Amino acid sequence: MSAVRDSLVEEALATGTLKGLPDGHFIDGRFVASEAGGRMESFDPGRGAAFAGFAAGTAADVDAAVAAARRALAGEWGRATPAERGRVLNRLAALIRDNADRLAVVESLDSGKRLVEAEGDVRGAARAFEYYAGAADKLHGASIPLGPDYVGFTIEEPIGVAAQIIPWNYPLSTAARGIAPALAAGCAVVAKPAEQTPFTCLMLAELAHRAGLPAGVFNVVTGTGREAGAPLTDHPSIDHITFTGSVDTGIRVMQTAAKHVTRLVLELGGKSPLAVMADADPDAALNGVMEAIFENAGQICSAGSRLVIERSIADGFIDRLAGRMEGLSIGHGLRNPAIGPVNSAAQLAKIAGHVEQAKAAGNIIHAGGNIARPSNAADGWFFQPTVVAARGVKDPIVQEEIFGPVLAVQVVDGLDEAIAAANCTDYALVAGIYTRDLSKAYRYARAVDAGQVYINEYFAGGIEVPFGGNRKSGFGREKGMEGLRSYCKLKSVVARI
Ligand code: ADP
Repeated sequence: MSAVRDSLVEEALATGTLKGLPDGHFIDGRFVASEAGGRMESFDPGRGAAFAGFAAGTAADVDAAVAAARRALAGEWGRATPAERGRVLNRLAALIRDNADRLAVVESLDSGKRLVEAEGDVRGAARAFEYYAGAADKLHGASIPLGPDYVGFTIEEPIGVAAQIIPWNYPLSTAARGIAPALAAGCAVVAKPAEQTPFTCLMLAELAHRAGLPAGVFNVVTGTGREAGAPLTDHPSIDHITFTGSVDTGIRVMQTAAKHVTRLVLELGGKSPLAVMADADPDAALNGVMEAIFENAGQICSAGSRLVIERSIADGFIDRLAGRMEGLSIGHGLRNPAIGPVNSAAQLAKIAGHVEQAKAAGNIIHAGGNIARPSNAADGWFFQPTVVAARGVKDPIVQEEIFGPVLAVQVVDGLDEAIAAANCTDYALVAGIYTRDLSKAYRYARAVDAGQVYINEYFAGGIEVPFGGNRKSGFGREKGMEGLRSYCKLKSVVARI
């Protein structure tokens, strides 16, 4: 139990906001107002009401942030040794842990996610900085044998100024998984958090400054995608873009990056299959399916949003699943219910639209299917945990990313059909399988097109494991040592001796 956390939760629930939230962009080591003076509001999804204002940035703020990042690279940060960079990141990890309660409560209030999940995200953010702190001085090139008359070697140089476009579903953890390797590699950063969830990224930048990161190395510009995100991705002085968000916006970002030949990593959507074979441990599989789709009310690109299940166990499994859902509590994220709100009114309308379309098309709804109005949070944005039977592979409920607590069920006969079902969408982010038969598990892992495959535990692993997608789910990898390479440019040096 934490007294600090409890009093912050009480303050937020009693007053509808929190005192001491960061205000302004964080540019060159300090908070500044927008040059054009613009302001926006952020909403508490559990109450469906605004709780705090923040700066609405424009191209002028982006210019200032990128210029600060350039200066920082030309200064002390550019000369810091890898070990010194690692020490700063370790101090930041410690400061994140020292401020974990406040970060988690702000994250929960701003995004709507359950407080326990926000606490997990904060722990994950601290781990990301700790992991890459340890990697900063182990990132080395290779020597290349060219015979007695030459010396050849490669150098991993920092790519320069790295732009980070961050989504609203995992504001702090997405920021950390991109910014930690960028800093470890020696880059400077300009981050643009989502306009729905600006606060924890600003808090992170301030903590980084307190940890000893020189001014200008880590800047944050808040505001909309159009006014602040687009000028950042279109900036000629940006050397790399890490974008996490929707496919449509990702395509736009890629088109913009192409104008300047800017390198990028795209982490886009998913419609990830979770196969449950007849030989699986039924309790572990049930828990796994629940977690895969209800984590953050289904608003996670790697959600296991399609249950691919063997016919012989399908009816019993779906009955148990539907039964478990009946009892799930729904409410404000800070009260730690089983299911929290979705992030915005627009997102709620989108989820409801998908489910209404399925109902109209005749899909059987095994559980849920409607907007929820919990008695203690009647004005918040909630959707019932929902299970929908699919009508074949072309069914929109199978093909379209819903980004909410809606599970589509595809019934199959045997492993080959499970693999075919797993591969039936344009996305290729994650795939999971529950089975006691390791040959089946590995065959599935090899045959499914996905950036990562989870066997007998969905979401297994952490910052150590490379993460990313194929096809419409994007390209490039974050996390792990692979994530560090995004922020490096390789130089080959050959000398005749
Ligand atoms: P959603 O549609 O769910 O809000 P987006 O993919 O549009 O998801 O948003 C993800 C992030 O991309 C947010 O930080 C958003 O502000 C930003 N963004 C939106 N449009 C653009 C754009 N044209 N250029 C750069 N960033 C953008």
